[in-house]
Parts: sequence; C-alpha cells; structure tokens
Amino acid sequence: MKYRTLILSVLLAGTFLGICNGCSSDSSATFTPTDTAAEQYSKRANPIIRERFSSDPAALVHNERVWLYTGHDEASIYSNFFVMDDWQLYSSDDMVNWEHHGSPVSVETFNWAQSDAWASQAIKRNGRFYFYSTVRHATINGFAIGVAVADRPEGPFKDARGNALISNDMTQGPIVNGQEMDWDDIDPTIFIDKDEQAYLFWGNTVLYYAKLKNNMIELDGPIRTLDVPSFTEAPWIHQYGDTYYLSYAYEFPEKIAYATADQITGPYTFQGVINQPIPGSPTNHQSIIKYKDNWYFFYHNALLPSGGEFRRSVAVERMFYNEDGEIFPIKQARYGLDVEPPPGAILGN
Ligand code: CA
Repeated sequence: MKYRTLILSVLLAGTFLGICNGCSSDSSATFTPTDTAAEQYSKRANPIIRERFSSDPAALVHNERVWLYTGHDEASIYSNFFVMDDWQLYSSDDMVNWEHHGSPVSVETFNWAQSDAWASQAIKRNGRFYFYSTVRHATINGFAIGVAVADRPEGPFKDARGNALISNDMTQGPIVNGQEMDWDDIDPTIFIDKDEQAYLFWGNTVLYYAKLKNNMIELDGPIRTLDVPSFTEAPWIHQYGDTYYLSYAYEFPEKIAYATADQITGPYTFQGVINQPIPGSPTNHQSIIKYKDNWYFFYHNALLPSGGEFRRSVAVERMFYNEDGEIFPIKQARYGLDVEPPPGAILGN
C-alpha cells in the first residue's frame, strides 16, 4: 500500500508541478487537472470492479471481447451470510476498461428457484449463449443447477428447461452431522471438448461431471465423480496445448490448486497450489481464459473498503506457464496487469 501511495503521489506531483515528458516548455501552457497516467494506473489496479461488490467471476471470450459474468454480493456489513439475487455482466476489449451491462440473468429467471445466485458460467455454442447457474431450489431441498439461454452474451437470458438441470436429489452428497449435505450441487463449469462433446463439472466436497447432449440443456449419460486432492468447490476446466487443466478451490480457507490430464475425464495428476488464500475471504473462485495471446486468472478478493467474506470484489492477474506447461504461482498484484513475467515464462501462446 505504501508503494502504491508513493507511485500515485509521484504521478500526481508530476502533474501538478508540470513535470512530464513532451510537455510544452512554454510556461504559459494550459494546465489540465486530468492525469491520464494516474487514471490508467488506477484502472489497472485490483479489484477491477469497484462500483458494487462482485464475486465468482466467469469469463468468456466472444467477438474479440472478454465477457465477464459475476456474482453480486449485496450483503450488508452486518450480514453473516451471502445475499445474492442476480448476476452482473461486464465486458472489455483491453482488460482495463470494463463496460457494465447490468444484470442479464437472476434468480427470477428460474421459476423453480428460491434464492442464492451463486457461481455460474456461460459458454457459446451454435450461435447461442448458455448460462449455467447455481441457485437454491424452491421445492427440492438443497442447491441446484439451472441453464438459461440467450442469443447474445448480454441476454436477456431465459430458462432453457423450466426445471433444474441438476438437483440435489440426483447426487449423493457426503453425510455431515448425520445428514446428507445439501450444497454439494453447486459451482457449474462447462467445457466443450475437441470432439464437440460438452461436459458439465460441478460440486462441493465431491467433484461431479456429466456429458451434455448437443442441445446443451440435457444430460447425456450418468453422473460420475472425479478424485482430486482436497477438493472444496469451484472447478474450472481449460486447455493448454493438448493438456486439460482442472483448477479448483483446495482446502478451506481456499487456495486455488490445479491438476492436469491427457483427457478431459481424467485421471488428473495433482500439480500444486497457484493462488494463496485471500485476506478477509475464505473463498476466491477462479476463472482462467486466454485473450489476445495472454492468459488471465480472474478471482475475487475482499479488498474494497468494508469488503469481507460476503462482500467480495473481482480481480484479475496475468497467468504464466513454464516450458513444461506448469503454471507459475499467481501474484496477487494490487498494482495491475503490467507485471514482469517470471523468469522462464513462455509468452505469446
Ligand atoms: Ca446432492
């Protein structure tokens, strides 16, 4: 923080004192109180969303833009649990300036849902956009996964089924305090493999997956499980080269770890932790994308003023691989994306 303050002070001082490269030497040159460098610096700082609390980022690349779906933390500073009724959408073509598109989908999109707009992910297929949501079911005990569809990433999204794609009673969760836990069916992530087969992964404590039919709204076969160490929640699949990367929230408070496999259904080999716990929030829920030849790691922290476990904020970092395809540990850089690649980082692919 001291470093950030120092840099801002230098930038601002440079402006007010008229010190800048390329400035006119004419001492009567018009002074403008706009400091582009400081503004740019500020925009690049984490968290990237600051006008409201946000969480559970899920990024999608479409038409040369990043479309960033987030949860919406509305809990007051006195709340002792999440208050989340809708998802918000942002987009950017430079990873610095984020345009807000409002809320394209909410709990109300799903008539059968009761509450809790938790983690989600959207994906594009056949010219349409499919949004997989976590919500609490109104009539079947526990959490559930719905799917909504739209013709544009901005929505509006409509419920694609009229009922849950996954409900708690479809899977056998672990027994906690003598009862089957009812939050094991959360955090959907979706991946379309090279043979065009779509897979849905989800879970808390247990990592489930299933194939989807081409219509993207029906299961195509049984629900199976995968075994990775200390799986908590927040699975995310991406591909780098020919290798499948499964990142997930590991232990609790959560770190983000990843495992790799030669095929999407595993078996996955544990590779290690890449993101450390976040101060003030036991969750940090990652989303990993490649955009314009760079890799990015979205997550949430609790660093806005009055932020906390139920008042989180989406942030983003550069992500780098070494020549063996291993991901370097993520630096939680408050100062933005202009980080030095670590020695040995592979750039441009
Ligand atoms: Ca279940």
